[in-house]
Amino acid sequence: MRLDYSPADAPFRRSARRPVMIATLCVAMLAAVAAHEGTASRHAATAAPASPEATLQEAVDELDSALDTDLQAAVGDDLEAPPASQWETVVVQKGQTLSDIFEQQGLGFSEAMATVRLSEDAAKLKSLRAGEKLVLLKTPEQKLEELRYELDETTTLQIRRGAEGLEAMTIAAEIERQQKQASAVIRNSLFLDGQRAGLSNRLLMQLAEMFGYDIDFALDLRVGDRFSVIYEELYKDGEKVRDGDILAAEFVNRGQRYRALRYMDADGNIAYYTPEGESMRKAFLRTPVDFARVSSGFNPNRRHPILNTIRAHKGVDYAARTGTPVKATADGRVLFIGVKGGYGRVVILKHGSQYTTLYAHLSRYRSGLHNGSRVQQGQVIGYVGSSGLATAPHLHYEFRINGIHKNPMTVALPRSAPLPRSIAPRWRTETAPLLAQLESLSDSQVAQAEQVDPTQVQ
Ligand SMILES: [Zn+2]
Repeated sequence: MRLDYSPADAPFRRSARRPVMIATLCVAMLAAVAAHEGTASRHAATAAPASPEATLQEAVDELDSALDTDLQAAVGDDLEAPPASQWETVVVQKGQTLSDIFEQQGLGFSEAMATVRLSEDAAKLKSLRAGEKLVLLKTPEQKLEELRYELDETTTLQIRRGAEGLEAMTIAAEIERQQKQASAVIRNSLFLDGQRAGLSNRLLMQLAEMFGYDIDFALDLRVGDRFSVIYEELYKDGEKVRDGDILAAEFVNRGQRYRALRYMDADGNIAYYTPEGESMRKAFLRTPVDFARVSSGFNPNRRHPILNTIRAHKGVDYAARTGTPVKATADGRVLFIGVKGGYGRVVILKHGSQYTTLYAHLSRYRSGLHNGSRVQQGQVIGYVGSSGLATAPHLHYEFRINGIHKNPMTVALPRSAPLPRSIAPRWRTETAPLLAQLESLSDSQVAQAEQVDPTQVQ
């Protein structure tokens, strides 16, 4: 799903649906003052499932004049008050279908059948899930007048009875984007300090992913490292829906500064680049297993634990539980898959003309993987085990350039393709304000850090 609106549309855009939520809030009030029929039904017809997030004051202001008229009418008239609202919210029960609900509501099976045939989105009513909500309005003859169903956080399906019978519409909500910023100094961990700075786990994951090619957050993070983030929050009808993307971020790790800016293509795909337009992604992931501990590093003079002879350790061992997924560190093809002496079950991948990577002691391979299979960076190719010569479950990982073993933990990894030249100048102009904002955020963070009495820092 695409949630993109150009930055120019961004913060504080007035929602076109605002009157709707005000109406919801005021339906009861209208009834209480015995509104004359025209006004009451007009408001009822626009009432929506949206929760009343407008302040009461706003709502009262908006409806003041209408209420005055209605009040006068009520005083001078002894018309009966219409019911507060005929809108009914139905929460889908486990196993319930649309026709079950229609039967229950006295709307009938055939009406349900007609409803799901109205549009592609209306057909989604065939697969209702427990806990979802339908908001219904009936005609005085107990036929369906209107139905509202939230397809997702930004679109609502609306079924209405028009002159030609039932019709379906999909209404897109206005998503407002607000820019936020946060910064933190690492005292404990990225997640703890990040949360303290007000960042959600989702944003912290995004941050870790962006810088994950340059910083190993399990091994490289130090107390005193710091970061600044500029990100978006998405709002619907004035209420926060969720966090959006990180637009720009800086991470200072052991004195080394890394910066990244977002680029979004026409299809809404996003990627991060350095201010110079270099990709934040590298052609290789640094490690093929998540959350693993290095149990043995690259060492040309190591005594082999089983053979007890000096034998170069030409890779890195990652201790992990049997069954832990092993990921291809780069796009490539399977050069070898099978059992090979001390390696046990092993997969060797070829990446371009110069690079190969090797994953040994696997307990099993990903099913369907065979010689010549294409793999993508991050794709699971097998699972940690202790096949071959291994004392305990671990992954033995090798990295070779032109056949020569390199230390996977320190080898300079090639970056992915930079931002295309045709796009770069415009992107740089567009992101210049963000970069300046990031700069000042970072500067003020440094200034703040300097004011802190070092004895106060734990
Ligand atoms: Zn090893």
